[in-house]
Amino acid sequence: MNTILSCPLARLLQNRHIANRCLHILKKKKKDLYRYSCDHERSFSTSFYLANKKEVCIELSEFPPEHVRNFSIIAHVDHGKSTLADRLLETTGVISVSSKNQQVLDRLQVEKERGITVKAQTASLFYTHKGIKYLLNLIDTPGHVDFNYEVSRSLSACQGVILLVDANQGVQAQTVANFFLAFDRDLPVIPVLNKIDLKGAQPNVVMQQLHKLFDILPEDVLQISAKLGTGIDEVLQQIVERIPSPVADVKKPLKCLMFDSWYTPYRGAVASIAVLDGVVKKGDKIMTHHKQKVHEVQEIGIMYPTEFPTHALYAGQVGYIIANMKNIKDALVGETIYHQNKPTEPMPGFKPAKPMVFAGIFPADQSQHMALKLAIEKLTLNDSSVDIHIDNSAVLGQGWRLGFLGLLHMDVFITRLDQEFNASVIVTAPNVPYKVTIKGAKNIKKYGGETLTILNPCKLPDLSIITEFMEPMVKGTIIAPTEHIGEMVNIILERRGTYPEQTFVDESRVMFTSHLPLNEILVDFFDELKSLSSGYASFDYEDADYETSDLVKVNYLLNGKEVDELTMLVHVSRARDIAVRVCEKLQKNIPRQNFLIVIQAAVGSKILCREDIKPYRKDVTAKCYGGDISRKTKLLKQQAEGKKKMRLIGRIEVPRDAFINILRK
Ligand code: GDP
Ligand code: MG
Repeated sequence: MNTILSCPLARLLQNRHIANRCLHILKKKKKDLYRYSCDHERSFSTSFYLANKKEVCIELSEFPPEHVRNFSIIAHVDHGKSTLADRLLETTGVISVSSKNQQVLDRLQVEKERGITVKAQTASLFYTHKGIKYLLNLIDTPGHVDFNYEVSRSLSACQGVILLVDANQGVQAQTVANFFLAFDRDLPVIPVLNKIDLKGAQPNVVMQQLHKLFDILPEDVLQISAKLGTGIDEVLQQIVERIPSPVADVKKPLKCLMFDSWYTPYRGAVASIAVLDGVVKKGDKIMTHHKQKVHEVQEIGIMYPTEFPTHALYAGQVGYIIANMKNIKDALVGETIYHQNKPTEPMPGFKPAKPMVFAGIFPADQSQHMALKLAIEKLTLNDSSVDIHIDNSAVLGQGWRLGFLGLLHMDVFITRLDQEFNASVIVTAPNVPYKVTIKGAKNIKKYGGETLTILNPCKLPDLSIITEFMEPMVKGTIIAPTEHIGEMVNIILERRGTYPEQTFVDESRVMFTSHLPLNEILVDFFDELKSLSSGYASFDYEDADYETSDLVKVNYLLNGKEVDELTMLVHVSRARDIAVRVCEKLQKNIPRQNFLIVIQAAVGSKILCREDIKPYRKDVTAKCYGGDISRKTKLLKQQAEGKKKMRLIGRIEVPRDAFINILRK
């Protein structure tokens, strides 16, 4: 039987709904990328007949676990994961062959605009190897450290990984981090060198690096060019041969792991599931273990490469499910799903992501508070790593303090709020979560504990009751060319890191590991590393708990009025430098007004620095004399528009994006 059956009329009638859905999808996609071919020459056989009124269905019962392979593609940023995913989909006929860089799995606007993957995406494909048809499920993952949580969740639905390494750049910091994510889970790794078409490619050198760092034998390494499509067949063969099939039993009661979910406006939540045992069909009554809620399966299918309905998913397979989960909390990732009244042992779920940076998020207009609340809820369904706390500010009104995995993550989240939900927000200066220990039984009772986590520095308890400050630390890994050893050691020490351990990756590259305060690496560390190493250094970090630290609270004053949103906790050795930098940036970011603005930074009553913004000398519209009314009106209009984007501190108008600009270089 064929993988995807051509349907005789009887089958078509039986599967009317599926047929309709398929027709719908096909119509929708008529002009674009997806070619539903009937190319029997290919290693899989699909038969899609549209014009001649035959229909499509995918019979997944033909794929027992031993004919299924679930794998992720992991790599450092830009090493070619999404390009390889494109080629795998093309080679197996899921999408049409194109000379363009399609990156079909980068679906979000922000991903397309920035050319980065921020969200792991799954796609199924069919491949015949030695006469047996296999169902392969690939997960394309993000490479940036901020999105590691996506990678680790994806790995829970896989039995192996492709570790892609750019043959020109060699092993980079996130290659190391991603390798160990897979290694720690005992997942087999297929090492693949990509970009061998490049002039500067040094496959032998990179193979030596892989051997030195990960004990990978050169003969196990594949060499490909994802861009040109060289070596793709070999990758597919090796996936079948080297990645084990899932251990799953179709006869056991249903057990699924929900490893991802996203929101669609009309159908509610769509969840990615890995079927660990049993069978789940359309119309089944399923139950989520943690929420203990029953849902009826309305649609089920595989991502091919978008939602493609089937009538069931079987043990070992990965696909999506729509089950009337209207409430966002019904589709929390990590949930175990089973049939109603047939509970099974639940999966451990996922370790919650640990937020590294917090910032206040407020609606630009308070009347939009409810709308923003809903937008944040829906977006966090698709991005469960965001940590949410209610917050309010005297100036900015009601809002939230959100925890992110890094500044890029924060930036992407806010961009997505804007692009996908049309939500315009004010963001306060981001900070890392500090901890303090307080004294006095009364105080401990009042604050609910002796150790407090400070998500917002302006909510710090009175300094007189604080006995100890602690700051979050990371274990940082840097890989850089040997000629930059001196600069790398210096910058690590300047950033209050421990003296770095050094391992030679090969004769020309060194890996440094050091414990650094998170606060020191958050903003411009990576940029500085890059500029010191002519662009060659790469950096990755992981959480390394808290350490006691000598912190002080810095307040900023505008004409004597404290700006709560800018209050910072910083290391004492840094206070003056940071204060000067922030005051200078405030000076640049606040437009002149018709009175003098004094910007000051203070620790307690001690003023650290001061900057002034001189008042306007003249009325700016004065130049638009007499006759030129239209120009004058236009200017006044522009000023009024501008004002909408301002907020008032005392009498001073501060642009809304001033705070986020302040921590950026
Ligand atoms: P990802 O961040 O790992 O998903 O990387 P992408 O797939 O987005 O690729 C990053 C860049 O490398 C893109 O500009 C690709 O066109 C390019 N690229 C990917 N594979 C190859 C290859 O085999 N050869 C060359 N020359 N460029 C490639
Ligand atoms: Mg990508």
